[in-house]
Amino acid sequence: MKEFILNNGIKIPAVGVGVFRVEDANIASETVKTALSVGYRHIDTAMIYGNEEAVGKAIKDSGVRRQEIFLTTKLWNDDQRSGKVQEAIDASLKRLGTDYIDLYLVHWPVKESYVSIWKKMEEVYKSGKAKAIGVSNYNTHHLDDLLKEAEIVPAVNQIECYPYLTQESVVKYCKEKGIHPQAWGPLGAGQSDVLSNPVVVEIAKKHGKSPAQVVLRWNVERGVIVIPKSVHKARLIENLSIDDFKLTGEEAKQINALNKNLRLGADPETFNF
Ligand code: NAD
Repeated sequence: MKEFILNNGIKIPAVGVGVFRVEDANIASETVKTALSVGYRHIDTAMIYGNEEAVGKAIKDSGVRRQEIFLTTKLWNDDQRSGKVQEAIDASLKRLGTDYIDLYLVHWPVKESYVSIWKKMEEVYKSGKAKAIGVSNYNTHHLDDLLKEAEIVPAVNQIECYPYLTQESVVKYCKEKGIHPQAWGPLGAGQSDVLSNPVVVEIAKKHGKSPAQVVLRWNVERGVIVIPKSVHKARLIENLSIDDFKLTGEEAKQINALNKNLRLGADPETFNF
């Protein structure tokens, strides 16, 4: 399975499984167990998803060694506002039943604290509780501000990114600065017709792959980590099976051209939570 290397040398599988909106503990646990059993080694959760405990239990029950799994969780906005980062990560570690997180992300760029919080994230990194630290939903101006103050460059910026929102400028900026771009909502979050878009469907047919596999492969080929969500075994397998084909330059161009800057989730400039 393809891996990328983050700016501090640690490896991250190019495809992970996301568990947003999987609130039911049994379903969350089963999803993670199934994902691990079919070969996933990268799980993306967050404090606010309310399923860290279920994720932790699934990891324990899976029989897969903790060191083989890349586990991401995120600092929620209230904890960012209060500045209680150590407390927040300790609580996440406890719920997850582990003594370190592979990647700890600032979930959203809260206006009053998206720069100042970074010092505390750096302390978390230095304490060894997170093997890598990063941000999420940061636009280039947020990153500009953060980098002016930062001692440690964020390892990752996790942003909404799929063919109708290609995020060219943020992706380019991140690459220039050594920040690895990561796509949330890579399949259009179940709210988009991107998987039935004729361009995507045609390319999928040519390769004998599914539209989901094509859009995931497109992001990975442009160096973007993906964390598609599914609770179904067949789709989990499908979303992971993207190593056996390659898009042509022309196909990648056609997918890039589908961009219409269409956000399905909240806008980092205007979110109100
Ligand atoms: P996604 O793009 O992964 O879409 C998931 C939906 O796509 C599923 O619910 C299902 O309806 C459909 N699907 C899954 N596999 C499919 C397949 N093979 N064929 C057809 N349809 C398929 O959207 P998402 O869950 O919003 O994003 C993925 C992950 O990103 C989340 O689970 C979460 O971990 C993370 N995330 C992060 C943020 C953030 O602010 N950092 C925000 C949202 C999500």
